[in-house]
Amino acid sequence: MLDLLQLADPYYGYSSGIATGISSTGSIILMAVIAIVGYIVQARLQSVFAKYSQVPFPGGMTGAEVAAKMLRDNNVHNVKITHVSGQLTDHFNPANMTVNLSDSVYSSRSIAAAAVACHECGHAIQHARGYAPLVMRSALVPVVNFSSKIATWVIIGGIALMATGGGTTICWIGIGLIAMSALFSIVTLPVEYNASERALEWLESSRTLQGVQLSYARESLRWAARTYLVAALSAIATVLYYVSLISRRND
Ligand SMILES: [Zn+2]
Repeated sequence: MLDLLQLADPYYGYSSGIATGISSTGSIILMAVIAIVGYIVQARLQSVFAKYSQVPFPGGMTGAEVAAKMLRDNNVHNVKITHVSGQLTDHFNPANMTVNLSDSVYSSRSIAAAAVACHECGHAIQHARGYAPLVMRSALVPVVNFSSKIATWVIIGGIALMATGGGTTICWIGIGLIAMSALFSIVTLPVEYNASERALEWLESSRTLQGVQLSYARESLRWAARTYLVAALSAIATVLYYVSLISRRND
């Protein structure tokens, strides 16, 4: 039973990883490295945002005002800009066509707030233009909601079956379900990078931001994008870990 728990939980994987060979150990080291990089990126993102939250936006426009201007300039007229409570809760909601801006963005008159507001508008413009990766990502949402709910149970069931002398098929199905989450985080990458690109392109071409102030916005969005990159790498490493574990058991 202990062995089952070790297999089911990556954090208990050290002993079974060492026991089953280098590839499991390798993927655990990989996951640990990604976790450390993720921590550094998150800390850097917070410090960059804290710094540029103190730099006033030229002309004193709020995040909400900048967002409204960007949508207007891009001929997107069916999206409302609303205020949502919390920190880092900013998002575009295609269901009710709203760009939701958080406390520190909606009424803030800073470069950091404008960068976030424009990034969310980037998603609204992607939606309006039918940007393919966004369409694919939206299609994956219900799939991943389902697969992530049942994946752990399928893998536990598969491991129990293997422990009693059964085959690995159920385990591989479980890994396939986990791989859907990895696929989702990979498809998220072009969506996030492109939203930031649209934000910076507009800030530059509309001359809303120039020179060093534009570079502050660029730096903020770059660090935000890196968190998605780390999330995708982490999801891939998790899949590799399970693959190494089950394929070793298969020998
Ligand atoms: Zn985004």
